[in-house]
Amino acid sequence: MRQQLQVKTSQSIELKEITREINQAIAGADIREGACLVFCPHTTAAITINEHADPDVRLDLQKAFEKLVPSVPFAHVEGNSPAHFLSSVVGPSVLIPIREGRLQLGTWQGVFFCEFDGPRTRQVWLQVS
Ligand code: ZN
Repeated sequence: MRQQLQVKTSQSIELKEITREINQAIAGADIREGACLVFCPHTTAAITINEHADPDVRLDLQKAFEKLVPSVPFAHVEGNSPAHFLSSVVGPSVLIPIREGRLQLGTWQGVFFCEFDGPRTRQVWLQVS
C-alpha cells in the first residue's frame, strides 16, 4: 500500500499529530500485519514519535525546537536554514509495526508531523509492506 496524507500547518514551528489519519489509511487498505513507513518528502519538516496524551508535551517540544537552533552565520539565501537544520536533527521518517490492522505504538506514543517553516500545506507519504 502506498498512500499520501495532506497536512495543513498554521504556525512556523508546529507539531501536528497524524496517528489517526495513518490508522485510517491502514484500515482502508485492509492491512492486518506488517510495517508502515511514514515519510516526509520535505527539507524543512520532519516526522517523530512522542507523547500524545498530554498536549503540553507537544507544546514544550515546539518551544525547545525554537531554542535548539544554533547562533551561526547561515549562508542559505532563502533565510530558512533554522528549518533545514531542525529537519535534519529530527529526521524524515519513522517505521512502525502494524498489528491487528493498527499501528502498534506504546500507550503514550503518537506520530507527529513536525513543521519547521510553516504555515504550509505538506505531504506525508505512507508505504506499508
Ligand atoms: Zn531553504
